[in-house]
Amino acid sequence: MKEIYFDNSATTRICEEALDEYIRISREVYGNPSSRHRLGFLAEQALNRARADILASLGAREGRILFTSGGTEGNNLALSGRAHAKARFRGGRIITTMGEHSSVSETLNALSAEGFDIVRIPTVGGVLDMKALADALSARTVLVSVMAVNNETGALYPLKQIADAVHRMAPEALFHVDATQSYMKVPFTPKGIGADLITLSSHKIEGPKGVGALWVADGVIKQKGLSPLLIGGGQEGGLRSGTENVPGACAFGVAARTYFAAFRERHEALSSLRAYLIEALASLGNSITLNIPKETAPHILSVTVRGMKSETVLNDLSDKGIYVSSGSACSSHDAALSSALLAFGKTEDEADSTIRVSLSYRNTREEADAFVAALGETIRTRAKKQGKG
Ligand code: PMP
Repeated sequence: MKEIYFDNSATTRICEEALDEYIRISREVYGNPSSRHRLGFLAEQALNRARADILASLGAREGRILFTSGGTEGNNLALSGRAHAKARFRGGRIITTMGEHSSVSETLNALSAEGFDIVRIPTVGGVLDMKALADALSARTVLVSVMAVNNETGALYPLKQIADAVHRMAPEALFHVDATQSYMKVPFTPKGIGADLITLSSHKIEGPKGVGALWVADGVIKQKGLSPLLIGGGQEGGLRSGTENVPGACAFGVAARTYFAAFRERHEALSSLRAYLIEALASLGNSITLNIPKETAPHILSVTVRGMKSETVLNDLSDKGIYVSSGSACSSHDAALSSALLAFGKTEDEADSTIRVSLSYRNTREEADAFVAALGETIRTRAKKQGKG
């Protein structure tokens, strides 16, 4: 059975270049970057090369790359680190959107329990309510956190416009962007989106799992505007203690360099495949609804299958060797309804019937056709069963 992997927003398969680097570094550059001997310097050098590669892949000269264990830690560090940086921030306001990834929304729930005032801005139809944002911004705002691309609907938010509003109306606030799903899928630079903190994750761009980075603007570090989650040996400028994951970070650097070099063609391949898939899905008529945001990333397509539970669709496709996800399946096995889909405006029943197809530039039109045929078959089989029952 030929497998079709349409779950690339959950994770990607590591590319050969990154895998080779992971093995090479593990085998040859095994010193501790903090050790003051030759092997330590070599490890430090390799780590700094990876930092430079990731910075270059962001089109940035300024700012610092802090290595983390992935998008989840990057988001936790940005949010809790900012909230706890200065005593005068206590009880301040933090603004975010409805339908953020749980590593943002749950961290903010924890900060809410500590007394921070959390405001969540609606995103109906994948459109961020700019008026509600403007109304919520004030001198008491210490942080605004907005994802660049929604991981379930592909909705793209107007980051520069948001940054301008934040910096104009909330001078104390930092602007954090969870770019886990937009990195290497949508072109952006830190300056272009006006961000102070940007979360990146390696395994969404064909790097290894369990590695990521937080880009931090120079000013934030100078003003000690971020406090660490992990305390110990003082690695990463004191902002992330613990011996660095050198092979992981270096492989992430190579994945970033490789992806960046091919960005334009991969972006075009994704956009054209998504358009092809949307057209092909039209053959399924009104048994499905496409949840297409006004502004969208090129790799995510949210599909509601009328009258069927997403779990059933997912399992049926999985039996045929086709892998998609239901809800925010990259995070857990629990069956909680997707807050992103509810925020998009789907009803609970619709959210429970929605699958996410997430593409890679490696996917083909033949795979898209096979997926549409398999989904059609799943829907027809179910209709027959229901007819009999
Ligand atoms: N933010 C978003 C938008 C995501 O999609 C994910 C991964 N599903 C994360 C954060 C968490 O990233 P990681 O898996 O690297 O912890």
